Amino acid sequence: MASTALKPHQKELFGQPIGLYILFLTEMWERFSYYGMRALLVLYMTTQTIGDDRGAGLGWTNQEALALYGWYTMLVYVMSIPGGMIADKLIGQKKAVLLGAIVLCLGHGVLVLTDIWAFYTGLGLVILGVGLLKPNISTMVGGLYKEGDIRRDKGFSIFYIGINLGSLLATLIIGGVVAKWGWHAGFGLAGIVMVLGLINYVAGQKYLKEVGNFVPSKNDVNEVSYGKLYSKLFSSPKQLLFAGILLAASLLGWYYMDWGYGLLFVFLTAIASLLMMIYKELNTQVFKDRFLVLLLSFIMVIIFWGAFEQAGGLMNLYTETNTNRMLFGWEIPTVMFQSLNAGFIIIFATIVASVWAKRKLKGKEASSLFKMALGIIIMGFGFLFMVFAAMEFEKSGTSSMIWLVLAYLFHTIGELCISPVALSFITKLAPVKYASLMMGVYFAATGLGNKVAGIVGESASEFGELTIFSGIVIFTVIIGLLFIMILKPLKRLTHGAEESERILKHEEAEGFELADN
Ligand code: GLN
Repeated sequence: MASTALKPHQKELFGQPIGLYILFLTEMWERFSYYGMRALLVLYMTTQTIGDDRGAGLGWTNQEALALYGWYTMLVYVMSIPGGMIADKLIGQKKAVLLGAIVLCLGHGVLVLTDIWAFYTGLGLVILGVGLLKPNISTMVGGLYKEGDIRRDKGFSIFYIGINLGSLLATLIIGGVVAKWGWHAGFGLAGIVMVLGLINYVAGQKYLKEVGNFVPSKNDVNEVSYGKLYSKLFSSPKQLLFAGILLAASLLGWYYMDWGYGLLFVFLTAIASLLMMIYKELNTQVFKDRFLVLLLSFIMVIIFWGAFEQAGGLMNLYTETNTNRMLFGWEIPTVMFQSLNAGFIIIFATIVASVWAKRKLKGKEASSLFKMALGIIIMGFGFLFMVFAAMEFEKSGTSSMIWLVLAYLFHTIGELCISPVALSFITKLAPVKYASLMMGVYFAATGLGNKVAGIVGESASEFGELTIFSGIVIFTVIIGLLFIMILKPLKRLTHGAEESERILKHEEAEGFELADN
């Protein structure tokens, strides 16, 4: 077929489907609004009600603000589960992303208002909007490639650059806007940028013709019925016992902790039961094994983010209070260190992806599971620099910022080995009719990681930073090594999902609906 005869969704740019760049830009604007608003959130909540140049804040204590922040950042990702289900069952990924983008515009728009009801409503809408958009746009990226297309991993790395470009721009720009025009102008900017994302997505539809569509099932095989799955729970005493034990543990959590944790545990019980029923329902051992290995890989995901997400918390505070930030007579603001991760991603994403792709073509070990385990180890090593920083601080009362730069560098390389890789891995292994749900479960796992990070970070006030940082190094490196030790049996469970990846020609590679498994 001559290239002039290609339809828009078959065309390529820099060797990738053009649809990738539409999703890249949409996600870039969405992440700008998310990270921009996130950067302001705690500061806005803790600013006094009489306010400063930036206007009145909410006057909350640090503890109150951090508690809401922790729940908010977790819920944003946990909502990806219902977001994924809605796409799988009702409207497909394409419409779910559209709906999510509209809800996000409303959410950020409402935050421009100064009333407290607007604050809670805005946050609620952002949680719903991200839940609809984030998992489904990621699944759509996978939908651009056929099974076995070697460009898929690289496509996800490019998409990941979009995420971080949005985050980098936001962290560099939004502070200045707030300093000049106040908090609500900052929230407004996030809203305007989200409108750009929406326009961009709608305008690019012709490049996304083949992906993310909802295909109503004509037969029973493709129908997703969560109600039916739950009702099957009652068909075997073993399953019921398992769900019952989880539920009892959740209720105990509710009793001994607070209602927020209780609700979360009950929700997790419902999800765990659903996953168990999906596993039972899958009709071949290949599907079952792939599903299982995907869930096992999510353990790595929780551990990774549980350590990595110290960035916004403990490491952020460490930067503020224990680090010498003077550079040529200028004190670098603490927030600026938050841009290092996004900046490093933009520099290294394609390099890391190319290194892996080359290794794979040479037939060397480059499976997603290996990359993910290695990612944990590399990130864990990054904390070694924080150990050095803490040792220097204990000796001299201050520590050099070079440790932070090195730590963030290692964290970023680790992130590049795990995060875009996991996104791609899900689109290869998830059963097609549960693809969006599984993406949602993945993001929920990262959300749980965020919560774990908060809990670990808080314990630093009791045990001291040196102990916490050293503990993270030891724990993560051991976990990473353990996964590498069991790599062979784990890989066997993928049943060669990644073994036949190769360079596909134009006609072969045109858009399709996820892995044909
Ligand atoms: N930084 C990435 C993003 O914003 C990872 C988020 C996550 O997986 N929790 O998409």
